Amino acid sequence: MQEQEQPYDSGHAIRTRGLVKSYPGPDGTAVDAVRGLDLDVRRGESYGFLGPNGAGKSTTIALLCALARPTSGHASVAGFDVSAHPHDVRRRVGILFQHGALDPDLTVEQNLRVHARLYGMPRREVRERTAEVLGPAGLTDRRRFPVRALSGGTRRRLEIARQLLHSPSVLFLDEPTTGLDPHARAGIWDHLRALRERDGSTLFVTTHYLEEAEHCDRIGIIDGGRLVAEGTPYELKAAIGDDRVVLRTSDDGRARKVVAAAAPPDRTVTVDGEGTWLRVPDGSAWIPRLCAALEAHGIAVHAASATPPSLDDVFFHHTGRSMGAAR
Ligand code: ADP
Ligand code: MG
Repeated sequence: MQEQEQPYDSGHAIRTRGLVKSYPGPDGTAVDAVRGLDLDVRRGESYGFLGPNGAGKSTTIALLCALARPTSGHASVAGFDVSAHPHDVRRRVGILFQHGALDPDLTVEQNLRVHARLYGMPRREVRERTAEVLGPAGLTDRRRFPVRALSGGTRRRLEIARQLLHSPSVLFLDEPTTGLDPHARAGIWDHLRALRERDGSTLFVTTHYLEEAEHCDRIGIIDGGRLVAEGTPYELKAAIGDDRVVLRTSDDGRARKVVAAAAPPDRTVTVDGEGTWLRVPDGSAWIPRLCAALEAHGIAVHAASATPPSLDDVFFHHTGRSMGAAR
């Protein structure tokens, strides 16, 4: 049975229920890329979809943009069911693909015109929208430049501008910062934040850079095609609770035993390249206690820090792996 269309003013830009996508695998078995996703993204929200390579992020975007058909389950985007009304969905979304799709030999303006023609936009509207999207991208005076003359970060801003040309209800960005240097990455996020604040754009952004997901209103963590955690960056980190206390000492091997004896009984104390570390609530309060215990055993403490949970800790907590190892 087909799900009824959601009216777009229901407040949801994206809604999925039990969304599944299986691909035929190389040896005849199915590859389950997406295994039953329930997502609700509100209008005007910036939603970060976070997960390692192969987690199912690009497949989810393809389903939500009606570029691939779900194996089962439902998804509606901008009020239209992706299976029943794929054309309506496609007209209302903008997609920034993981691997750019600009023609390097055409100028900035020509690339926009190609896009406008694909979407059948009337000429006057194209003129107006071109000015409107190039301004915020800082590209107005470069509109006659060939794309190949632009830096990586500037090209990415142009791709975003192009996807905004037809005034989509939802903008999907698949790893928009991958391959850029840190400065350009920060510039893209500033640009996205401005879009959201100025135009109230709904953004669905995938990334495998944990620290970048902090810029989003809400984050979903996907692993193996399943949503393993969801919430604001603050909520996700607060749910982990414990701070990480790291001590660098004159003898980390002995320090481990002393710290384990002084800490609450159920704590794992680890020694690695960073030093001796453990997780405890209210970490900074533990530092003087642990230092006193170490010094009583003749072990000097060279440095001590207490850090609240990071999104990497959140990922580890929910998957048992670190993002670095999963990649
Ligand atoms: P991500 O974007 O998070 O890196 P993808 O959605 O690209 O993940 O891939 C999820 C899983 O689905 C991976 O195991 C990938 O190999 C598989 N997959 C993706 N696209 C196809 C396809 N067209 N045919 C077969 N398997 C695919
Ligand atoms: Mg991908």
